[in-house]
Amino acid sequence: MSNREKALSYAQENKEKFLDELKEVLRIPSVSTDSARKDDMLRVAEWLVEKLEVLGMENVEIFPTAKHPVVYADWLHAKDAPTVLIYGHYDVQPEDPLDLWETPPFEPTQRGDSLHARGASDMKGQVVATLKAVEAIVKNGELPCNIKFMIEGEEEIGSPNLLDFMEMHKELLAADFCLNPDAGMLGKELPSITYALRGLAYFEIHVTGPSHDLHSGLFGGAVRNPANTLMTLIAGMKDENGHITLPGFYDKVRAIDAEERAELAKLPVNEEFLLKQTGSPSLWGEKGYTPVEQIGARPTLDVNGMLSGFTGEGAKTVLPAKAMAKISMRLVPDQTPDEVYEQLVQYMEENAPDGVKWDIKVEHGGNPSISELGGVGVKAMSDAMSTVWGTPPLFKREGGSIPVVGDMQKALGIESVLTGFGLPDDRIHSPNEKQDLPTWYRGIDALIHFFYNLA
Ligand SMILES: [Zn+2]
Repeated sequence: MSNREKALSYAQENKEKFLDELKEVLRIPSVSTDSARKDDMLRVAEWLVEKLEVLGMENVEIFPTAKHPVVYADWLHAKDAPTVLIYGHYDVQPEDPLDLWETPPFEPTQRGDSLHARGASDMKGQVVATLKAVEAIVKNGELPCNIKFMIEGEEEIGSPNLLDFMEMHKELLAADFCLNPDAGMLGKELPSITYALRGLAYFEIHVTGPSHDLHSGLFGGAVRNPANTLMTLIAGMKDENGHITLPGFYDKVRAIDAEERAELAKLPVNEEFLLKQTGSPSLWGEKGYTPVEQIGARPTLDVNGMLSGFTGEGAKTVLPAKAMAKISMRLVPDQTPDEVYEQLVQYMEENAPDGVKWDIKVEHGGNPSISELGGVGVKAMSDAMSTVWGTPPLFKREGGSIPVVGDMQKALGIESVLTGFGLPDDRIHSPNEKQDLPTWYRGIDALIHFFYNLA
């Protein structure tokens, strides 16, 4: 029997023990946003340290940050094998509204195939799955690759200290790539790997005209109305094909080739699904691309809010002195928020008419990210999932952003393999969060294969 097979049968034999340990950590209410639970945060960090030490991990340490600590550990004795940095977070979302929970959020309860508790899926379940996969391996031989754990306690509050932490510990955290199991899969029989995330650029555009609101009868017709002007400018940012017209906007956008398009077409995100999810009368998007491509692989420009003039009950004949719109753009590789800002400024310079002044305020931004599909990490995980599920994983692009992925690329220069064993109906962040246990056990098996595949 090979060590891989021994590890897999160890996992099989220890299912109950693994589950008990997951329940143990789920009982600690590590809600990062709640300052009254600072001690609970530390208790989970210490729980992790104890587990990591039992596994023979080295340099196990709790690093304090300005808020909640980061737990680190490594094992680096596999010669000529890659090093994987395993990312996780041990904090959870608040449990309220408490009265909507069928069983208490911090008393893990099994109902059918599901284990219900806050954090069961997001993401203590995923963190414990990686720990148990490592346990199965080290109880039956040596780790076939080098691993580092970095488990933070601030993900649910936006990871405010993680970028600094990574920049301060570049050498300690150096790795070939990151495994981030916080992204879940598409369905019980649909293992998936997310290989690209969109970035974000967020602006406020202010247009000002007269020095004060004017009577639209006395002055209307002789001065520019900032509200009309701002709307005209925004309307001009997209053409009738849904193409964004900012100068140079698509210059850095990576094209998707036929192979990738065929891969994306396999995803269960079709017109019917999107109409149901959105409640829109019909879909509309950039011509020449399917909805799944529009969401994952193409950039966007959207008004998120507008403010101008009189919006109260009834009529007030006013010509507003100013108008404001909040505009966000979802970016794709290799766009950057800074370049998009320059393009927006250039558009305004070329198109804003006389008679108004304008100003752009930068709210925030984040870079898009993409992993090489042929990379060693993606390949190892993809093969592992094929072995366990009997079907290759779906490769998807995420329309949203996971800041830690971009931060890691920035601080450590490494890409992330995003996956996980949570399901879309796990109700993460909501009452009655659950983890599907058969999927969790398959996840542990997949992780065992993944580590061996890296050797
Ligand atoms: Zn999470």
